[in-house]
Amino acid sequence: MKTIAILGSTGSIGTQTLDVVRANGDIHVAALSAGKNIALLEQQIREFHPRLACVWNEEDAKTLRTKVADLPVKILSGMDGLNEVAVCEEASILVTAIVGMIGIVPTIAAIRAGKDIALANKETLVTAGHLIMPLARRCGIRILPVDSEHSAIFQCLNGERQNKIDKILLTASGGPFRGRSYEELKRVRVEDALKHPNWSMGQKITIDSASMVNKGLEVMEARWLFDVSLDQIQVVVQPQSIIHSMVQFEDGAVIAQLGTPDMKLPIQYALYYPERRFLAGERLDFAKICSITFENPDADTFLGLQYAFEAARIGGSMPTVFNAANERAVSLFLHRQITFTDIYEIIRDCMDHHAVLLNPDVAQILATEQSVYERIASQHCG
Ligand code: NDP
Repeated sequence: MKTIAILGSTGSIGTQTLDVVRANGDIHVAALSAGKNIALLEQQIREFHPRLACVWNEEDAKTLRTKVADLPVKILSGMDGLNEVAVCEEASILVTAIVGMIGIVPTIAAIRAGKDIALANKETLVTAGHLIMPLARRCGIRILPVDSEHSAIFQCLNGERQNKIDKILLTASGGPFRGRSYEELKRVRVEDALKHPNWSMGQKITIDSASMVNKGLEVMEARWLFDVSLDQIQVVVQPQSIIHSMVQFEDGAVIAQLGTPDMKLPIQYALYYPERRFLAGERLDFAKICSITFENPDADTFLGLQYAFEAARIGGSMPTVFNAANERAVSLFLHRQITFTDIYEIIRDCMDHHAVLLNPDVAQILATEQSVYERIASQHCG
């Protein structure tokens, strides 16, 4: 029986991971972690019987300990707790479904402990890919992508490892504002940005999809995961989200992975790789699909994509600045303190005022994140 641990079990990816576990019935969950949602975590503990569970605050941990006093589960808190979940002895795979750069340290701990990583937490590779990928190679562990586009590329590369990749064609839906002008983007509301045309996801990533920052983060993630240069990654808008990404090889052949938009497929693929299992749900019906269309992304309007390529080319600590600035800007937007296009302005400002560190270690990455947060707080709070 396979045993897993999950960071971020109460979120969108975390709950869908547990759906996959429930549907298959042959994976043991040894450890779970959540941020603040102790009500849901308690339900998960009662259903999946982990040995360890972690919440962020010690106060919440105390409350949870009382609630599950009838069960043999150890309740942890904070970063020490996240690390303990990450290296939990019985687990062979850590699912990193936590949001934000908080995922870096426990992911590194898990790799050092020899766990394969089912990676959803894209911030880890975006900001620390230069540390994570060599470490994963040294420790002989696998990074199994959960992000649907990266899983698609991973699937396209099955049996093709020896062959030279010419290009990765990273598909994008274009989000709810595809076709709008920059002037129009200035006036969009939070509710509009939260309406993704095809995918149902957490709030932060839904806004990132609307701004195309998400596609920028995915470009950075793909570059590390598949060891390609930025020039080998082309973003292609495919509004129906039927093609989840493609790989072009040096002979000109293009291999694509297609499917309905359901995150459970890449999650299940990562958990059982290289085996495929039955997955309940809709199937593509080619008798009904009238067309699959393609467009170039509008990087002059959706500046998130343009700035992401710029940050990735500069490298070093700049992707951390891009990611941290966006994270705070999205939070301000969700709290209705700034407009949608201010997200781009904030990223631009932070990138323009950053002195790049070329090969940052984890401490420097986290210090960069903190300095970006402080800059934004000084300009937008109080
Ligand atoms: P959600 O916001 O839905 O969930 C985030 C999870 O992280 C929750 O379990 C949350 O706990 C937990 N968390 C947040 N802060 C802390 C903290 N300080 N300490 C411990 N746990 C914390 O995010 P998603 O599931 O949407 O995304 C997770 C990651 O996966 C992100 O990096 C995202 O980019 C990536 N991803 C998501 C996809 C999707 O379809 N949703 C697709 C591809 C990648 P709680 O809710 O209890 O506070």
